[in-house]
Amino acid sequence: MVEYRVTFAISSMLFILFTSMSFIAGVMEDAITVIARYMVMKRLINDVITLLAVKEYLLDGFPPSVIAFKYKTSKFKVRGHIQRIIDKAGNYRIATKILERLYPLLMSVEPVMLRNGGRMLCTLCNTYIRPSDAESHLRKKHKEFVNAVVHKVIMASSVKEV
Ligand SMILES: [Zn+2]
Repeated sequence: MVEYRVTFAISSMLFILFTSMSFIAGVMEDAITVIARYMVMKRLINDVITLLAVKEYLLDGFPPSVIAFKYKTSKFKVRGHIQRIIDKAGNYRIATKILERLYPLLMSVEPVMLRNGGRMLCTLCNTYIRPSDAESHLRKKHKEFVNAVVHKVIMASSVKEV
């Protein structure tokens, strides 16, 4: 009887442990996908400042004011980018972990937008667009392409960890 109770207690504990672990892994996976998509977009449209600002804050530990000064942008814009990543991750620690995994892979993605004066050229369809329309152009016209790049980055990041 005692043995049965102990076995039962252990198996319930293992069940709870397993369930919470897979729950955390699930949340983490979702966060990786959302952050990968956000960062891949910035990379594809060649938004170097956003990528560097997020990286220098989360991975190198620079304060937003230092980053803003370095890239001649506002502290509030830098904070905005960082906050978006942290919100998507759920908290600062998870955001840092995810970015550590994704950043080198993001850098190996080739941008598809080229800045040409005040306009941008989408090299996927050879169309000139306004820089402010770059992200929505990719989302609307090249959805499959973006999905494939995001998928590739995520796959590569999990392979690396094993
Ligand atoms: Zn295009």
